[in-house]
Amino acid sequence: MMKKMLPLILAVASAGSETKSPTLPELHTMIARFARTELRVETSKLSAGDQKALVKLVEASRIMNDIFLTQLWSGSHGLLRDLEKDQTPLGKARLHYFLINKGPWSDLDGHAAFLPGVPPKKLPGANFYPSDMTKEEFEAWKNTAAQDFFSVIVRDSAKHLRRVPYSEAYRKDLERAAGKLREAAAATDNESLKRFLSLRADAFLSNDYYASDVAWMDLDAPIDVTIGPYETYNDEVFGYKAAFEAYVNLKDEQETAKLKFFADHMQEIEDNLPIEPRFRNPKIGAAAPIRVVNEIFSAGDGNHGVQTAAYNLPNDERVVQEKGSKRVMLKNVQEAKFQSILVPISKRMLAAEAQGDLTFDLFFTHILAHEMTHGIGPHQIEVAGRSTTPRQELKELYSAIEEAKADVTGLFMVQYLFDHGLLPGGVARERQLYNTYLASAFRSLRFGLHEAHGKGQAVQFNYLVDRGAFVAHAGGTYEVNFGKIKSAVKELDHDLLTLEATGDYAGTKKMLDELGVLRPELARALDRLKDIPTDIEPVFITADRVAPR
Ligand code: ZN
Repeated sequence: MMKKMLPLILAVASAGSETKSPTLPELHTMIARFARTELRVETSKLSAGDQKALVKLVEASRIMNDIFLTQLWSGSHGLLRDLEKDQTPLGKARLHYFLINKGPWSDLDGHAAFLPGVPPKKLPGANFYPSDMTKEEFEAWKNTAAQDFFSVIVRDSAKHLRRVPYSEAYRKDLERAAGKLREAAAATDNESLKRFLSLRADAFLSNDYYASDVAWMDLDAPIDVTIGPYETYNDEVFGYKAAFEAYVNLKDEQETAKLKFFADHMQEIEDNLPIEPRFRNPKIGAAAPIRVVNEIFSAGDGNHGVQTAAYNLPNDERVVQEKGSKRVMLKNVQEAKFQSILVPISKRMLAAEAQGDLTFDLFFTHILAHEMTHGIGPHQIEVAGRSTTPRQELKELYSAIEEAKADVTGLFMVQYLFDHGLLPGGVARERQLYNTYLASAFRSLRFGLHEAHGKGQAVQFNYLVDRGAFVAHAGGTYEVNFGKIKSAVKELDHDLLTLEATGDYAGTKKMLDELGVLRPELARALDRLKDIPTDIEPVFITADRVAPR
């Protein structure tokens, strides 16, 4: 699944009513929430075969845009054609914002319409079900085969519900895409890529995705591609139906090597966690695979509104049981967000002398450490003689604590690697690490506390303020106290890990109630960030160069 955090703030225009659509200046303000960012990836090192394959993969991925438009709304393609003809400034702005959202509803504004003559909000069932179908009608139908990922529901001539597999519903587009995938498979010299692409082409036409999902787990190639129907968020009625998307990426060899190096040290980190030794795990399990890549192109469900920075797939439980799942981290997308959002945030929130410390390299290293430390710390615990898990004991509070734990244990880990000469450390690097972490806290907090990452971030922020490790200044800026930050991080990590190790629901609730909140001082500080972009709008320079439209 992908992480899509949507900000609470920033509802700009009274979009959505039939009578009043956003004006040109209002649309410009809405569009300005996405910083236009050019994505360029060096492709010259690819083999001749992979260079050819890359062209076909970008072309196949563009077809995912066409299918996704159809999936979101039956009127999308007609509306897009009309918008493309409108040469007025308003028409151009509408087209621009339509392409950002892949439809006439604004992702950042609760899917409210920004164009006249369309439903005021995205239809909950999108175009996966007949627009007049009720939940009750579908349930009364009692057709379990129709609850699958890969079909749409339509009405037949007698007005009865009927299931139509994607392979029929989108036949023409899927045949074109399968053809491109086969051409790419023929061109590449990487066996695992050849196998995935051939099986995925078969799946487009047979509607059976299992074998190709398994092949995707085994994919290990310079070109790292994800293409097909995956996430079900657009089906807000049942969450059954998967939307088509694509990511065409190149593997980042340097970060992949770094990951391997970290993985080799995870047991050592576990053995030194700031927690009672009896809670440490003498033999940690194998970590889930992580791939670090740079995105050349994304399409369909993978390219609207807030851009995906990382994803975990597949979602098919049968494949997850058998092969596990894989996490793909889009490094250049993270870097674009860092430059367009985090750096401007630091200019408002950090003292002048700290601003120069913002460092993408440590920002990304901390994200990697966050992902890896999800795998260590308490996982199998004992409470009152029962064998159980932190998730079972902490229930609905677990995700917020686990996200905070991964952030803080990740910091602890990077500091440990500094201290033991396993990463180049020193005072300057520590300044960079903690100042980057402070700026990044504001970015997460802007997304609101309704979701685990934001709540977990508030816990960290308030804890560190209470310990004097983060210090607020009168002008609304914040500063790291370098005399206190390292020990405060260790104490916080101790507290979080101990809550998990003891499955302490009451203690966790107390911590979240006291610290998982937006205090007035912080709320005022976040107010000063309103006009900083929320996300990026990627411009795919490399994709357009290798496969001109
Ligand atoms: Zn996490």
